[in-house]
Amino acid sequence: MRISFHGAAQDVTGSCHLVEAAGRRILIDCGLHQGSRALNIENAEPFGFDAAAIDCVLLTHAHLDHCGRLPLLSKRGFKGPIVTTAASRELANLVILDSAYLQESEAAHDARAASRAGVKAAPPLYTVIDATNMLHQFSKVVDYEKPFEIAPGIKATFLNAGHILGSASVLLDVDEGGKKRSVFFSGDIGNADRPLLPAPRIPAAAQAVVMESTYGDRNHRPYRESVEELYSAITTTFARGGNVVIPTFALERAQEILYILRQGVETNRLPPATPVFVDSPMAISATEIFERYPDQFSTAVAELFRRGKDPFALPGLHFTRDRAESVAINQVKGGAIIMAGSGMATGGRVVHHLRHNLARPEAGVIFVGYAAPGTLARRIIDGAKHVAILGEQVQVRASIHTVNGFSAHADQSELIAWRKGIGGLETTFIVHGEEPVMHTLAAKLGPGRIEIPGLHQSFEL
Ligand code: ZN
Repeated sequence: MRISFHGAAQDVTGSCHLVEAAGRRILIDCGLHQGSRALNIENAEPFGFDAAAIDCVLLTHAHLDHCGRLPLLSKRGFKGPIVTTAASRELANLVILDSAYLQESEAAHDARAASRAGVKAAPPLYTVIDATNMLHQFSKVVDYEKPFEIAPGIKATFLNAGHILGSASVLLDVDEGGKKRSVFFSGDIGNADRPLLPAPRIPAAAQAVVMESTYGDRNHRPYRESVEELYSAITTTFARGGNVVIPTFALERAQEILYILRQGVETNRLPPATPVFVDSPMAISATEIFERYPDQFSTAVAELFRRGKDPFALPGLHFTRDRAESVAINQVKGGAIIMAGSGMATGGRVVHHLRHNLARPEAGVIFVGYAAPGTLARRIIDGAKHVAILGEQVQVRASIHTVNGFSAHADQSELIAWRKGIGGLETTFIVHGEEPVMHTLAAKLGPGRIEIPGLHQSFEL
C-alpha cells in the first residue's frame, strides 16, 4: 500500500490524499486551497497524479477545503464514483455550486480588469456547468459504521467525525494477498464540547492514521462561557437600543447560533420574541438540509426533533432569501439580531448590514468565528476606527465583540486523546495545519513514528 499527500501537506487547506493498493487508486478528499485569491494559481496546478487513473473518491465532508477541487478532477478526466454520506452529498452539492458561481463571477471581474490593462485574464477554475456535470458522480451514499467493499481486498468504513453534519473519518482496510493493512483518515475532527453533533468516533485499531492538526497548539475556551458571552453581548446591545449583527458561515455555525439563540429564548436569557433575521440564501438552504437528518445529531438535539420541535426555529425567526427582503432589514433600527454571510465579511450580504450598523454607537457586532488577516472582519476586530465598505469610509462606533469558543475543530487535548484511543498504531501522519502547529502537536503525541509529509511526498506502508 502506498499513500501520498497532494494537499493540506504542511498547510491548512486543500485536503487530498491518494492511496494505491490492490491495483486501485483511491482519493480521500479533493479540496480547494483557500485563504486568498492568489491561491487560485495553486488550485489550477497539476494534482500530482493522473486524474483519469483515479478509481474512486471518498469524501470526508462538505467543506470547500475538502471537496472544492472535485469539479476540476472531473474536468481533468476522473470518471469514477464519489462516495460519501447522504447529508454530505446534499451539502457538498450546495457548497460546490456556490463555489462554481463565485469562480465564474471572480473570473469575469478579473477579465474586465485585465482588458482595461490590456493583458489576458485566467479562466475560472471551473464553471457552474463543469460543477453540474460532476454532481452525478456522487453516485454512492454510505451509512456510518457500515463497511463496504470498494474493490476486492479494499474495504472502507465511514465513522461520524462530529465536525459538521454528515462529516466522517474513514477507515480503509486493505488485504493484498493476505498482507493486511489499515489506515484511518481523520477528515476534520469535531470538537466534542459542542451541542449539535455527537462526539467523534474512532476505530478500535489501525496501523496508521492521517490526522488533522488545525488547533494542535492550543485549547479552546469552554463552550458554556462562550454561550454566556454571546447572550450578554446581545442583551447589552438591546439595552442600548441597537441591532446585533453576527457575520456567520452558512454551514454549521449559522445553525449552531440559531440553536443557541433558541435556548437563550427558552431559558429567558433573551427576550421571547426577539426578531432574528437569517439573511443568507446558503444558510437557509443548509438549515433545510439539516432538518432532513434529525437522527444524525447529538442525543439532546435528536430528542427535540423526536418531540416534533425544530431545534433551529425561534418565535421571531425570519429567513430572507429574497434580495428585496434583505434590503428591508435596513429599516429595523434596533432590537434585532441579523445573521448573514460571509463569516469574515469578505463579501455577501453581511457587508451591507455592517455598512448600516457600524457607525451607530448603540449597535453591536459579534464575531463568532476565525477571521483571517486582511479581511474586513479582522480589521474591525483589530480595532480600526474607520473601515472602507463598498467604496465608502464607515466610522466604527458600534461595540465590537469576539466570541471564540465555537470552533468546529478538536483542540490540542482532544486531538491527543483521539489518537491515544486508537490501538495498534505504528505511524501517524500529521496534515491540515500550519507547519509550526504540526511540530507542536507532534512533540505532544509521544512515542511512535510521526511524519509531517511534504506536498506530493509518498510513503510505503
Ligand atoms: Zn471542515
